[in-house]
Amino acid sequence: MTDPVPDTRLRLTLLGGYLGSGKTTWLRHQLHVGAFGPRVHVIVNEAAEVPVDDALLSGASGMTLLAGGCCCCTGRAALIDALRALCDQRSRLSADAPRLDRVVLETSGLADPGSIVAAIQSDPVLVHHIVVETTIVAVDALHALAQLATEPLGRRQIGAADHLVLTKADAAGPADLARLRATLGLLNGHATVSASVLGAEVALPPLPPGTLPADLPPLGPDDVRGPIQPTQVHIPDGLDWASFAVWLSALLHARGEDLVRVKGVVRTPAGRLLLQTVRKVVQSPEILPDQGDARSDNVIVFIGRGYRPEDISRSMQRFLDLPLPLPV
Ligand SMILES: [Zn+2]
Repeated sequence: MTDPVPDTRLRLTLLGGYLGSGKTTWLRHQLHVGAFGPRVHVIVNEAAEVPVDDALLSGASGMTLLAGGCCCCTGRAALIDALRALCDQRSRLSADAPRLDRVVLETSGLADPGSIVAAIQSDPVLVHHIVVETTIVAVDALHALAQLATEPLGRRQIGAADHLVLTKADAAGPADLARLRATLGLLNGHATVSASVLGAEVALPPLPPGTLPADLPPLGPDDVRGPIQPTQVHIPDGLDWASFAVWLSALLHARGEDLVRVKGVVRTPAGRLLLQTVRKVVQSPEILPDQGDARSDNVIVFIGRGYRPEDISRSMQRFLDLPLPLPV
């Protein structure tokens, strides 16, 4: 009898979740505590051209940023190329050299993790070098029920998970959290569930017996409101920050259902400010280090649907009384 051959393929963890579900916060903490081991490479995919979240990630032995296309669809070829390059590097090392153990792929919030797994597994090279070990999906404890009521993509993401992390678990009341868990159980009965606050795991109480799931209406695959798309708006230098904040609040108040996510880095007198919103909620701004990559400063990405890209910059121009048309 021969000994079983150890599986030396590169392990891949897929991290998915809806726009603004807290994927990066969770991943940042997990890297910080070494949850993925010492030799981990992180791939961050941003559907928009302007990367923001990579400014937040450290603790990985390497990082690749794939921006400007979602890896489950338009950016699929770039993902396959990046993974093949990692496998290539790894196989060129001698057998006793320390080799990369794991890749964590943080998908864009628009991605269907199931399509990514299918793309990797059907690639004739990657299938021999990579094992998709687990798919983790972040679920926003505060917003997920509303999203799941209207978004087919949100339901597909839940359905693709092996493990669900309820992020921002402190933001939802116990009854809402229980109802969300019952609803997730209905959408995906096999996934394990944990909860986190700022990326750190917190205990989940036992699910009260008899908790009813939310009544989710049936959704067709095609959304009549059109696809969700990213739009970039350049912020002029010397902008009055207070007026900008008023405009953004008004915009979110009026269009918060269509604008699923807003994020960007704005230069303010207080420093480089990371601005993020999820639906109508503006997350408390975070001051970024000054020495970071400033190329994406003063560009805000609006992700949503049901409006023309130029509507956003025009609204801002009008509100702030800016003289010149802004580049979109
Ligand atoms: Zn996609």
